[in-house]
Amino acid sequence: MDKDLKNYMETKINNILYSDGLFLKYQYADFKHEELDILFNSHSVAKKTIDVFCPICKKESVFSAICETENYVFEQTYNNSQLGNDNPFGLNSLNGGKKHWLSNLNIIVREFECSREKSNSQHNFVVAFKFYDSHFVKIAQYPSVADLTNRHLSKYKKLDNDIFLELSKGQGLFSHGVGIGSFVYLRRIIENHIVKPELKKLISQEKITEEDLSKKDFKEKLNLLRGEISDFLVENKKIYSVLSKGIHELSENECLTMYPIIEKCIEIILDEQIELKEKLKKKEQVAKQLNQLK
Ligand SMILES: [Zn+2]
Repeated sequence: MDKDLKNYMETKINNILYSDGLFLKYQYADFKHEELDILFNSHSVAKKTIDVFCPICKKESVFSAICETENYVFEQTYNNSQLGNDNPFGLNSLNGGKKHWLSNLNIIVREFECSREKSNSQHNFVVAFKFYDSHFVKIAQYPSVADLTNRHLSKYKKLDNDIFLELSKGQGLFSHGVGIGSFVYLRRIIENHIVKPELKKLISQEKITEEDLSKKDFKEKLNLLRGEISDFLVENKKIYSVLSKGIHELSENECLTMYPIIEKCIEIILDEQIELKEKLKKKEQVAKQLNQLK
C-alpha cells in the first residue's frame, strides 16, 4: 500500500479509537472494508496496536488488541440478523455490501492490553461502538480522551492557571461528545486571556481610545496587536472565525469534527504566548543589568 495512504488510514483509525470525542457519527460510506476490519475485528490480519498513555503505569505504553473469540463479530451479526455464514470480513460480504452487515451489528467492544502489565486488566484500554442503519458511533472509551490528553496541557499552567482550566474543560466536553460547548471554552481563551488584556494595555498606554477600539472588528483588533501576541493567531484569523461560526452556526457533529484541529491551533498559540512571555522577562532582566553598568 502507498505510504501516504497507509499513514492516512492509520491516523483515521487511531483518531476513532482514542482521540475523537464520543457520539460523533461515522458514515459507513466513508470507510473501506479494510478499515472496518481493523476497527472492529480483533482477529484482523493487521495486528492493531495503539500507543497511548497508561494512567496506571503513568507512562506512554503500547497496547495490543485482546482477541475476542474467533467469531466475535460474526456471532454479533448472526445473533442480530440471522445472516448465516456470511462472515462480515469475508469476500461474500464485500459483494453483499458492508452496509448490510454493519447495520446488523449492535455493539462492538474492543479491548487493548498494556504491554507493561498484560496480566492486569485494570490497565486495559476499552472502547465501545454502537451501530445504526447508516453510521456507527463511539459510545464509550476508557481512559477518556481528556485523561489521555490533559497531562500535556498542564504546561499551560505557567502561562495562566485559568487558561489551563478552560482548556481542560473544553477538552473534557469534547471527549464527552459536546461540540459547541467545547468551542465556547476555546473562544474564551483567545478573547479573554490573550486578546483583551493586550487591548487594555493599548488603552492604558493611550495608543488608542476606547471609542476607536469599539469601532474595530475582531480581525482589526488582532492586527493592532501584531508583535504583542502570538503571530500564529494574527496570521490565521480563520481560527477565531471558525470558533465563532461553531458557536453560532455549525452543528454539534461539525464542531466535534473540527475540534481536534482547532485545539491544536490553540496549543500552538499558547506555546507562542509562553515564548513571548519568556522573551519579555529576559529582556527586562537584561535591561535591569544593563542599567546597573557604570
Ligand atoms: Zn499500564
